[in-house]
Amino acid sequence: MKFLSTRGKSETDSSYEAILRGLADDGGLYVPEKLGKIDITSEEIDSFEYVDYAKKVISSIFDDMDREALFHEIDEAYKTFEPEILPIKKIDDVYVMELFHGQTYAFKDFAMSLLPRLVSLSLKKKNIDKKILILTATSGDTGSAALYGFKGVENTEIIVFYPTKGISEIQRRQMVTIDGENTHAVAVKGNFDDAQSALKEIFNDGEFKKYLEEKNYLLSSANSINIGRLVPQIVYYFYSYFQLVKDGEIERGERVSVSVPTGNFGNILAAYLAKKMGLPLGDLICGSNKNNILTDFINTGIYDINRQFHTTNSPSMDILISSNLERFLYYELNEDTEYVDALMKDLKTEGKYVLPKEKINGIYGYCYDDEKTLEEISAVYEKFGYLVDTHSAIATKSAAEYIKDQGGKVLAAATASPFKFAESIAKALSIDYEDEISAIDVVEEKTGIKADDNFKNLLRKEVTQKIEIEKDGIRDVIKEILF
Ligand SMILES: *Cc1c(COP(=O)(O)O)cnc(C)c1O
Repeated sequence: MKFLSTRGKSETDSSYEAILRGLADDGGLYVPEKLGKIDITSEEIDSFEYVDYAKKVISSIFDDMDREALFHEIDEAYKTFEPEILPIKKIDDVYVMELFHGQTYAFKDFAMSLLPRLVSLSLKKKNIDKKILILTATSGDTGSAALYGFKGVENTEIIVFYPTKGISEIQRRQMVTIDGENTHAVAVKGNFDDAQSALKEIFNDGEFKKYLEEKNYLLSSANSINIGRLVPQIVYYFYSYFQLVKDGEIERGERVSVSVPTGNFGNILAAYLAKKMGLPLGDLICGSNKNNILTDFINTGIYDINRQFHTTNSPSMDILISSNLERFLYYELNEDTEYVDALMKDLKTEGKYVLPKEKINGIYGYCYDDEKTLEEISAVYEKFGYLVDTHSAIATKSAAEYIKDQGGKVLAAATASPFKFAESIAKALSIDYEDEISAIDVVEEKTGIKADDNFKNLLRKEVTQKIEIEKDGIRDVIKEILF
């Protein structure tokens, strides 16, 4: 498969190249030249496991990859999920996809378990005799998912930079206890922006990149614009839909809408692509927190980042620029790359772009503040004895509100384990707790719902990552770690 840039001035000759490059040279994002339809037969519905859907969907886009090698990597990647890859729970007319049974208990594991393997495979197939160095700044789930995903993967080395301020204790512990040979987590004094801007400088430093290349390292990042992160996410919509067919919950061909708690627009875009590939999905329901730039965009056609940024209890959705929205624009504007390019220029120069509202279709936006989010957690627990985390609560509430307005059935994405945000759960259920970690125990006690043993063990693991630096020390620490 060839991949084309959303801005029209770059393309790749292969899937391997798109995965290794990440971002297109013209600043755009790669999209496959064609999106074929996926046909799932009745026999396949009966016999398919999760990895069978993964093989079918992923190989239809990465169709030029070595099939046997790709299938092997898919088998290996999803072995880490337990006890089941993707359980689906029903609450009223909402089907909750529990996307948090991977190693770091958030949905990013679905992509991060496979992407590193695809990177390594791509290096091999392109005969590149270098190692990939992944540098990522994180304030949340991306860092730990990336560390676990890259751990032990051949010819890769990963360093995650996390801020000392504004990161949750659970997320911090997931990173500082990582024990791979090729995995490193470094604390940067300050907040996320400090870590992020220091790292950006490195990516723009040609001389430092050249220095690394001489030492046999190619620089890359693990953020969600890489097509290799997006494609594995399309799979769970196919799997979930046909699981509902198999269980007799829906008729084959019946439209089911999808509700997704959205940050960078990657997860919901995967649903959009699944629909383009023929899956009978209905509307897309985009849930946001108080950072409701997407809700405004969907309702008015105006995307305007000149607004206050809010820190909320669903931190993985605290975002003003949703990078993957660019791919949505590309398709909604009928692949008019000049139009996309012009909008992205407006965004860069004015922090804003305007699209005629009628150009955006089939998508609904809802937003809820912290208080409403906690109310939803409490309401779902009271009514169904079921716990949703703060992000997932926004998805279930958006789904319920959509059903009230439009009717039908909805698949809602639960993107993190409730125990990852135990403090908010305790608050929502009015349970006293001392700190973030002890909140896990009191929530278990009060609700009788148990956190995964592995999750609790992870929090007790020995701290292996102890480096803390000032933000101007990033270059030095990279050299120290690598050489
Ligand atoms: C990353 C993340 C999101 C947002 O997903 P996007 O693909 O960036 O829209 C939502 N919930 C959780 C728990 C996440 O980690």
